[in-house]
Amino acid sequence: MNKKTLSILKKIYFHENGFYNLSLDRIEYKIPTSVTQVDLKLLETIGLKPNNFETFDHDNSLDRLLKLRENKKLTLDFVTAMFIKGVTGELPRGRQTLMSYLYLKHLPKHEFVGKESCEICGLPKFKTEDKTHQLYTYYLGHSWNETPLSFLTELEEALTFEKPEITKSDRDKLTELIEFTTKADNTETPGKLEKRIASDKILEQTDKYKRYGILQTLAECGILPNKLISPKYEKFASRKELWDASKKLTTSHRSDIILPLAGWKGENSVNIKRFNEIFNPTK
Ligand SMILES: [Zn+2]
Repeated sequence: MNKKTLSILKKIYFHENGFYNLSLDRIEYKIPTSVTQVDLKLLETIGLKPNNFETFDHDNSLDRLLKLRENKKLTLDFVTAMFIKGVTGELPRGRQTLMSYLYLKHLPKHEFVGKESCEICGLPKFKTEDKTHQLYTYYLGHSWNETPLSFLTELEEALTFEKPEITKSDRDKLTELIEFTTKADNTETPGKLEKRIASDKILEQTDKYKRYGILQTLAECGILPNKLISPKYEKFASRKELWDASKKLTTSHRSDIILPLAGWKGENSVNIKRFNEIFNPTK
């Protein structure tokens, strides 16, 4: 996405433009006068029409997610290439795809359990979403291990992209981040690691939350290990298991970082074997 397109989206998805649409039970965005018809046409051409609502239910979203697992393009090779370009800062949109892939990796087929959202998978029972708004956060360069319904929209769009070509210098950037992380002292928390990364300017095109997103992805891979919950690369954890494990976190952990990253400490270091298994499979 070029800067022009992102700037149009920024003008629209500005909190003051949002208003509650009662019939959709969802925030809708007013198109400000600074956005022209030509701008809107441009967004439509690339599939990012604002207020692009779709109503999802649990069973249908789960089926669509499970079906994506059979998609031949959705491989570890594809999603790691996207992630590496996200880490270099060349393609911030690429950061989320590995996280979404890890969510599906061991996602089991099941019936809905709970009230509004499922206690197993976290998908809502019934929800209307603006798909462009869901994608907007990823275009800004965020990546999250929450809101799994957005992973469906994210993966469906990501699969329309070409796999990025990864160069040696792209790989070196990720290796630099890994090596930098291994230098943590035993008591280092994820919050302190993020601050060190910021002050040494290791990750371009990031802010605090975007750095958390990249580190959270490494935690979900099991590259930044923790003792409280299995990373999604190894095993699917239900929402209930996640809530129970979160209760074991000590209060010294920052509240805006969640598991599995929240369970990492410098003494856990980096699982290099896992790093090579995921990012250098031919090594
Ligand atoms: Zn579920």
